[in-house]
Amino acid sequence: MQFQGQILKMTSFDAQPIQYYLNLSGDLIHMNELLGKELTIKHTGFQCVNCGKNKPIYRMGFCKSCFFESPYASDTIIRPELSTAHLGVGERDLEVEKQIQLQPHTVYLAYTGDVKVGVTRSSQIPTRWIDQGATFALPIARTENRYEAGMIEVALKDHLPDKTNWRKMLQDDFEGEIDLADFQQKIKEYFPEDFQKFYSEGENVSKFDYPYEKPEKVTSFTLDKKPEFTGKLVGIKGQYLSFEGGDFINVRGHEGYVIELDVKN
Ligand SMILES: [Zn+2]
Repeated sequence: MQFQGQILKMTSFDAQPIQYYLNLSGDLIHMNELLGKELTIKHTGFQCVNCGKNKPIYRMGFCKSCFFESPYASDTIIRPELSTAHLGVGERDLEVEKQIQLQPHTVYLAYTGDVKVGVTRSSQIPTRWIDQGATFALPIARTENRYEAGMIEVALKDHLPDKTNWRKMLQDDFEGEIDLADFQQKIKEYFPEDFQKFYSEGENVSKFDYPYEKPEKVTSFTLDKKPEFTGKLVGIKGQYLSFEGGDFINVRGHEGYVIELDVKN
């Protein structure tokens, strides 16, 4: 079987185990069915997720000029606390920023090898957690907009990480229970006074089951360094494909890359 097209992040469905679909120019390839098979990935070009041009991808699927111009790549995507749409102040395109920022957001704790704090649009749950490779996740605040959630995260990230350590996430062989509710009690005192009304306690902890087993070692590669790669797919966690021998590729990190994918039967 051969497929080709532009990579977007994998689509996932929360099941036991989680079901993953590789998104190649709109074709959804069911990756769980390819576990145990030999895949060849060949980099053939680029297609910016914004302008569609065959220009090198700079970050997040955008070519360099789109990354610095598109409202979908604004600073507030990475740093929610910089959001200003609630004040009627735009950064790149106020109408787009209003759509992104002025909607319910959730502040959560997630276990991705460490317990971390994060922010997501509530509509992105549980996708956001699966994309990060979280084993457990627990909402701790529900806000009306992105700015409020960002301010809560800023206060809490002095006390716990806000980034996923992908290596730890992939090496994780945690078995048992992490008590995120207990963790929430420990950091409760750092919850910012001004945003207390958004605080939420006693929500359900989500648990995720990936088609994945801890590898002997973790080595990640990119298509920039290795434009053609062949390996046997043995697992999927977060947005990473795991190959026999400990090679990993971050699919989300290759949004906008155009590839050919060959599956050997
Ligand atoms: Zn572009």
